[in-house]
Amino acid sequence: MAYITLNKNNFFNNLDIISKKTKSKDKIALVLKDNAYGHGLLEVAQMAQEYGVKKAVVQTCEEAQKIENKFDYILVLADFPSCKNEKIRYTINDINAIQKFPTGTKVELKVDTGMHRNGVGIDEVTLALEKIQEQGLLLEAVFTHHRSADELTSEWFWQNEKFAQVKSHVKSLGFGEVRFHSCNSAALFRHVDFAEDMARVGIAAYGCLEMPGAYERDDFKPVLSLHATQISSRTLRSGEALGYGATFTAGEDCRVSNYDFGYGAGFLRTCSNNYTSPKGFKLAGRVSMDNSSFISDAKEILVFDDARVLAKSAKTISYEVLTSLKAGLQRKII
Ligand SMILES: *Cc1c(COP(=O)(O)O)cnc(C)c1O
Repeated sequence: MAYITLNKNNFFNNLDIISKKTKSKDKIALVLKDNAYGHGLLEVAQMAQEYGVKKAVVQTCEEAQKIENKFDYILVLADFPSCKNEKIRYTINDINAIQKFPTGTKVELKVDTGMHRNGVGIDEVTLALEKIQEQGLLLEAVFTHHRSADELTSEWFWQNEKFAQVKSHVKSLGFGEVRFHSCNSAALFRHVDFAEDMARVGIAAYGCLEMPGAYERDDFKPVLSLHATQISSRTLRSGEALGYGATFTAGEDCRVSNYDFGYGAGFLRTCSNNYTSPKGFKLAGRVSMDNSSFISDAKEILVFDDARVLAKSAKTISYEVLTSLKAGLQRKII
C-alpha cells in the first residue's frame, strides 16, 4: 500500500527556525487545518506536543475536539461552538455572526485589512466591539490575514499599516488586554523584528515555505514523503503506448512498473507525463485512479519528498499537493 512518512527531525528543525523568529515557542500557533495540511492531524499534534508547541489553529470545532488534550489554546477559524471547552476560541468572521455565539464564548475578532475574504471591515470595528460586549462574549484577540505576504508587492506594507491603525483604535476604546496577530508563515519571515503576540504558522512548519527574492531561504526541510508499492512490472517495447488515452509511447524498449498511488489517493492528475521522482524515475502515461506508472523496476518507489517539486509539475501550489492526500493513507513518523 502507498504510505506517508513524516520526518520528525525535519519538523523539529523547522520549529527551531520558527521559534527563533517568534522569539518564543509560546508564540507559535501551529496551523493544523485540513488534516494538518495532509500530514495527519493526530500525528502532527503529537509531534508538536513533544516539541513543546502549546497553541494550535484549526478550521472546525470537530478538529479542535480531536486535539484538545494536546494544546492549551486552540483557535477555530470558521465554526460555531458545538461543545463546551475552555481551550477553544472562535473566530468572528462577519459582523452578523456575533449574535450566534452563546454568552461567555471566548472569541477573536477577524478584521479585513484588504483581502476581502473574511472578517469585519475596518469601519465596522467599533460596532463589532459593542456587539461583542452586548452579547457577553469574551474578546481575547483581534487579528487579520495577509493576502500577498509571499509576493514582493506594496500590499504587504499597506495591510500592515491598516492593521497598525486597527490596533491603536482597539486600544483607544479601552480593550487593553486584547492580543493581536496577523502573520502566516510568509508574513512572519518578512518581518525584520517580529513583535506580535502570536504567529499562525502552517506551511513553514511543514517545510514547504516559498518566498520571493531576497526572502528566499533553504533551511526549512519538507516533513512529508510519499512512498508507493509496485503492483506489477513489464517490458514496454519501442512504439508501444501506456495507460489511458495512450499518451506515452516508448521510444525504446524499457522496463515500466505500475504503482499503487493514483488520483483516488491524492496524486494530482495534472502531473501526468510531466514528473520525475527524486531518484530519477519518469512518470509515464496518465495518472489513473489507483495506479501510476514509472519507468522503473523498483519494488517500492519514493514518489515525492518535497511537495513543491510535485506542485510545479502539476501547475499548482504545495498546499494543494499536500491537502489532496487522503486521510486513509497510512502515516508513519520516522
Ligand atoms: C491557513 C491559514 C494560515 C497559515 O498559512 P501558512 O501560509 O500555511 O502559514 C494562517 N492564518 C489563517 C487565517 C489561515 O487560514
